[in-house]
Amino acid sequence: MPRPIHAVIHQPALANNLDVIRARAPDSRVWAVVKANAYGHGIRRAFAGLRATDGFGLLDLNEAVLLRELGWQGPILLLEGFFQPQDVALLEEYRLTAAIHGEEQLRMLELARPKGPLAIQLKMNTGMNRLGFRPDQYRAAWERARALPCVGSIVHMTHFSDADGERGIAHQLEVFDAATVNLPGEASLSNSAATLWHPAAHRAWVRPGIALYGASPSGRHADIADLGLMPAMSLHSELIAVQELKAGDTVGYGSLFTATEPMRIGIVACGYADGYPRHARGWGDDAAPVVVDGVRTRLVGRVSMDMLCVDLTPCPKARVGSPVTLWGHELPIDEVAAASDTVGYELMCALAPRVPVSVATLTTADAPAH
Ligand SMILES: *Cc1c(COP(=O)(O)O)cnc(C)c1O
Repeated sequence: MPRPIHAVIHQPALANNLDVIRARAPDSRVWAVVKANAYGHGIRRAFAGLRATDGFGLLDLNEAVLLRELGWQGPILLLEGFFQPQDVALLEEYRLTAAIHGEEQLRMLELARPKGPLAIQLKMNTGMNRLGFRPDQYRAAWERARALPCVGSIVHMTHFSDADGERGIAHQLEVFDAATVNLPGEASLSNSAATLWHPAAHRAWVRPGIALYGASPSGRHADIADLGLMPAMSLHSELIAVQELKAGDTVGYGSLFTATEPMRIGIVACGYADGYPRHARGWGDDAAPVVVDGVRTRLVGRVSMDMLCVDLTPCPKARVGSPVTLWGHELPIDEVAAASDTVGYELMCALAPRVPVSVATLTTADAPAH
């Protein structure tokens, strides 16, 4: 028998989430962002669920090639563009759209002189201060790109720092619109948060990532609870032992949890080497939630490499072999992330290679239903 931990990738949830996003931004085409191996879901597994998209956005040339091997004929956007002069030939070979975010990339294009026509997305730094031409340099960069015989089309691109937060996007949108005034071309601005919450930024293309996987850009599940998004990844295991504690007994490394009265705890075959966050809280009022035997309970003690412990007080029938959900349909990943001072993005991306993964396909009758 293998260790009972396993993850499930739900293709119907991915397809549903793409539909939800299309309904939020009905006039935009969608770059489905599948960087980081589709946020830990696996590009191969995610592909069937997302193939109704208009294009895929990612970072790695290898991932782009994989999509072509899977049969994807449509657009593929390299969100960080390319890194070496020799990559330029691959843009042509695999028909990739490259973000061009800096002087060095523009220079590489000018020197490589590919035949083209290449589609590019010229990136402006409107305040995020990671990638992009400064607003006052943008027009000159656009003129240079347009003058290149290999460049077929140029989409204007920027990225928001606070589309999920209080500051919002108005200050960046203002900078973007001012710097592109009278420049022809489509625009691509919105991550998931702007796609869900800032229609003014939808434009020709949106670039959602996290919402496709059914988690919240803000890290707060409440922010997406009513949108109809469904979790695309679930992580499951089982109890492999049960312990009876007396008052004063402690649990796990560092003895971070102390029983105040007699209680039962369950030991789950899942630890940080599986991708469950070690810094999840296993004490106090805001301990991480865990579902055991269909009942919501809480983490106790520190997460170890291969195991974690749960309070069995609310689930008196639980025994060795009882099913455990770490996150998924009955337990939003955002809630586990919040109890670990991080966001769902990080938990998904950290799913460890040792965890066996199965796929609930688009035709499976027991696909999750809301
Ligand atoms: C990752 C990324 C996105 C998607 O962001 P989400 O918050 O996951 O929706 C969009 N655009 C760019 C440039 C990105 O790097």
